[in-house]
Order: sequence, then C-alpha cells, then structure tokens
Amino acid sequence: MKAVTEGRDRVRRVVCPGSFDPVTNGHLDIIGRAARLHDEVVVVVGANLAKQGLFTVDERLAMLREVTSEFPNVSVDKFTGLLVDFCRAHGVSAIVKGLRAVSDFEYEMEMAQMNYRLAEVETLFMTANPLYSFLRSSLVKEIAKYGGDVSSLVPAAVYERLRVRLAATRAGWPQGSGHS
Ligand code: ADP
Repeated sequence: MKAVTEGRDRVRRVVCPGSFDPVTNGHLDIIGRAARLHDEVVVVVGANLAKQGLFTVDERLAMLREVTSEFPNVSVDKFTGLLVDFCRAHGVSAIVKGLRAVSDFEYEMEMAQMNYRLAEVETLFMTANPLYSFLRSSLVKEIAKYGGDVSSLVPAAVYERLRVRLAATRAGWPQGSGHS
C-alpha cells in the first residue's frame, strides 16, 4: 500500500503545449481528458514558434482562457525558450500530448526522449478522439479561408474570431452565414 500512496502529496501538474493557432475541438478534447486525470493542467502556447500565425499569441491565450473556463483546474500561459525550462520553473512533472496518427509518432517520440534527457520531464500520450483525429489548426484555417464550414471543428468563440479575422483579410469567409 505504501508504494501506491508514496508521492501522492505532490500536486500532479502537467502541461499541454502547442501553438493553438487557433484552439480546436481536438485540442479541447485532450485538455479536458488531461484535466480529469491530473490535479492541474497548464495549457501553454509556445511563443517562439508563433512567428507567422493567423492569431497573435495574446489572442490565442485569450481564446484558450475563454474555452477552458469550464475546467477549474486548467490555466493558460505562454512560454519562450525550452518547454522543459518552463516545466522546471513551474513544478510540472509531465507533458501531455495528443497523438492523431502514426505520422505524429516519430516526431513526438524524438521530442519526448529529448525532453526526458534534458530535464527528466515525462511525456504522456493520449490517443486522439476518433471524431477529431483528422483535425489540426492549419487545416481549419485552410478550409475556413476558402469558405468551408468549420463550425463543428472549433469552439463557438473561436469560430466567431475566425470569421471576423478572415472577413477582415477578405479571404473568402461566407458573409452573413448566420453564425454571427
Ligand atoms: P496543430 O496545429 O497540429 O493543431 P498544435 O501545436 O497546436 O498543433 O498541437 C498541440 C498539441 O495538440 C499536439 O500535441 C497535438 O498532437 C495535439 N493535437 C492537435 N490536434 C489534435 C487533435 N485533433 N486530437 C488530439 N490531439 C491534437
């Protein structure tokens, strides 16, 4: 029994990292599942990876805060530099990543092994919900740009921001589509 309870006084704080440009229902599925399994989840936007996003890092943070507000143990932050340095500074013991397909695996395994080597931070993989395994932010932006309906792929608040942003850049969003 001792072995099982040992270490349980520690807060189990994990991070869900990504670019979240913008957050999709696939991300949200992973965040929600991670929040059920851990004491605290910090969703972190990699600010140095975000040079040419559709949304600024601050906009991404604002959207993430809005759509994760239903989870009391989820917070949102950004990091620059190495993710493992953020983990060390914030007492994070593990990185949670979603795996959509075998194509994600090779890169993710390499990153996981490097992060462990650098700082002994574990990486936990969750398989994507089959409903969202085809879903990535870049695809959502591409479809939306050409007027496709992405309303079932992103939270409503994100859909609205996409609509406004793409209408502003006049890239083909269906005007007056009834979602505003
Ligand atoms: P993307 O632009 O591909 O959505 P991100 O860098 O924002 O990429 O993704 C952050 C994390 O979320 C990654 O671990 C990624 O595997 C995971 N993720 C992204 N989309 C999904 C999805 N549809 N289902 C499960 N996990 C996902």
